[in-house]
Order: sequence, then structure tokens, then C-alpha cells
Amino acid sequence: MSQTLIKNIGLLVTNNAEVDGTPLGLISNAGLLIEHGKVKWIGASESAPSAEKTIDASGKCVIPGFVDSHNHLIFAGDRSKEFAARMAGQKYEAGGIAYTVELTRKASDGDLLSNAQRLQHEALHSGSTTIEIKSGYGLTVKDEVRSLLIAKQLTPETTFLGAHVVPSEYKDKSDDYVDLVCGAMLTEVKPHAKWIDVFCDRGAFTTEQARKVLKAGITAGLKPRLHANQLEQGDGVALGVELDAASVDHVSHFNQSDIEKLAGSKTVATLLPGAEFSTRSAYPDARKLLDAGVTVALAADCNPGSSYTTNMPLIIALAVREMFMSPEQALWSATKGGAQALRRSDVGHLSVGANADFVILKESSYIHLAYRPGVNLVDEVWQHGAKI
Ligand SMILES: [Zn+2]
Repeated sequence: MSQTLIKNIGLLVTNNAEVDGTPLGLISNAGLLIEHGKVKWIGASESAPSAEKTIDASGKCVIPGFVDSHNHLIFAGDRSKEFAARMAGQKYEAGGIAYTVELTRKASDGDLLSNAQRLQHEALHSGSTTIEIKSGYGLTVKDEVRSLLIAKQLTPETTFLGAHVVPSEYKDKSDDYVDLVCGAMLTEVKPHAKWIDVFCDRGAFTTEQARKVLKAGITAGLKPRLHANQLEQGDGVALGVELDAASVDHVSHFNQSDIEKLAGSKTVATLLPGAEFSTRSAYPDARKLLDAGVTVALAADCNPGSSYTTNMPLIIALAVREMFMSPEQALWSATKGGAQALRRSDVGHLSVGANADFVILKESSYIHLAYRPGVNLVDEVWQHGAKI
């Protein structure tokens, strides 16, 4: 039996509202006892049970590990030139994905795995102890299967995104491609995916096509989530709520009806400010969603085209500065919000029985995540009860 006590924690964020009546569930001068990868005990440091090993976290803030619920890590190459062109004035459209698809199809399994491992390593070392990974740069049966086989080696949160864009060989035959996604492709990938996803937006798939893809996935035993309303106001959010999707992602555009539908559902709105940052697009006002009672998550959306970052502290800083979230709301959305977007109750919070996934910050408060943008504030990352 190996127990570790993190003692004298300056400020502990539990995300357990029962602790103090606030969403972050804060405890000052706290103790956190971990055993067998789980949280065993939480409370005031002076009342903590003794343990074989102790870590002193005086003056530091401890937060739950980030739950980053939206990433595209299985790809080859980069699109730095496209980024530079966009910064020089070109507009972002969904079509740039085709370039990454071409490179991904040519890459070896080993190269795809090592690139994804490199990005996962970055994410973990910046505090993301749970990440979701999508396929979607293969877009053939063979390449989607191998993308998911690689993703499965890195996370249990694997998502089949065969309906990312229509590949060039199906140009002007998008319905035929949707049939492939819902047919042979789905049959082959389903043992390796937990989620089904679709990019429902201008230049990608229509609402009717998205509905067909998600329904086929649900019938095959996958759980739905989708990219919706990134590029324009559409019916993607309404579709997500209709199908009880765990999350609708981007939601850069929304109307009053979308807000009401989300607020009356279990579907989380996952905001991806890295995409607005990297495409120089208008940020959505998260306050409008939060004030209406919508559950909001934040994720990095790491991908080579529109948000090439794995860094959740940056995402928090952007959400606070640009989306009008408070530091409290942004931290909650990057941890417990992400867990709800993955329908997970074992991560995203620190309560007895939860996974011992947490980050020790170099500073005394989580506020510094937004207050000190671009500075590495991560002192230690613990995953499944072990320091990484
Ligand atoms: Zn995405």
C-alpha cells in the first residue's frame, strides 16, 4: 500500500461545490492523500492522516488536471505557411485540411505515432492529464482505422471523425462519401472509437449529412459529439441537442434559440479560443452562454491548421481575456467542464474516489493562469497518483 500526502497546499481547487458552496470548492492550507492512483482523503492539512511519502506544497495552488476534450493529434506535416499567409490577410476556410490529409496518407504508422506522442507529451507537461484524440486526416477506410489504432494507444477518449471534410476524390459527390463514412468505414473503425464526430459547417457537411453520420454512429454503439457553428450560424448546435450529443464544439456563432436549447439539455458547449486566436476570428461571448445556465467547457483543439497548441493555460488566458469568462469559470471549464464534455465523473475534480490527476502550480492562485499569460506556471503534474 503506497500512500502519498500532498500537505500544506496553499490553495486547493477541488471542483466539489459541497466543499464551500462555490463551483471551485476551495480549501486553504489543504491536504490531499492519494493511494492506488485515486484520491483517498481531502481536508485541512493539519488533520491529514500520516503517509509514507509527503510532498510539501506550501504557498502553491493545486488544481485538478486539465481535461482537454477536443484534439486532432493524428496527422503529418504542418501548415505554418498557411498560417503565415492567413496572418498576412487571407481568410480561413475548411479546405486547408486537404493538404494535411495528403501528407497523413503518405506517412508511416511510426511517424504518425511519434508525432502524436510528441504532442501528447507537450499536453501532459502543461497539465492536461486527460485528452481526447480524433481521427479525420485519413478519410479512407484504411487511414481512418490506422489513425484510431494510434489514438487508442494514447487515450481511451478516441473519436471517429471520418466526416471531417469531403476528400478530393469525392469532390461534388459528398453524399457518396457520407455513405462510405456511415457504411464500410464505420464498420471497420467502431472497435477502436468511443465517439462519433462530424464537422457540420460551411465547406464541410450539411446538417442533414451530419445527422445521418451521427445517427449511424449511435446505431453502431458510438456516442455523439460534433463540430458546430464555427464558421457561421447553422443548425449544428440544435442537432447536437436533438441527439443528446455530449458536446457541441466551437459554437463561435449562436442565437437565442441555441442558448435555450443548450441550457435545457445535458449537451456541453465546448469553446475553442485557440481556433479564434489562430484564425484571427471573432471570439464568442461565453458570458451569454454561462448566464443562461449552459455548461461550458474549454479545449485546446490542437490541430495543424487552425489551433496548433496543446497548452490549456493559454486557452484559459484567452477565454478570460477574449471570451469574458472569469478566472474561476475558465478553470472550471478547462477541468470539470471538459470532464462533462466527455461524460466522465472520475476526472476533472478532486474528491475521494476520483482519479489522482492534478497539477501543482508555482503560484499561490489559479488566477495566475490568466494573469501571467505565456509563463510556464506548472511545477508538477501528477497522473493516476504518480508524478510524471
Ligand atoms: Zn476540431
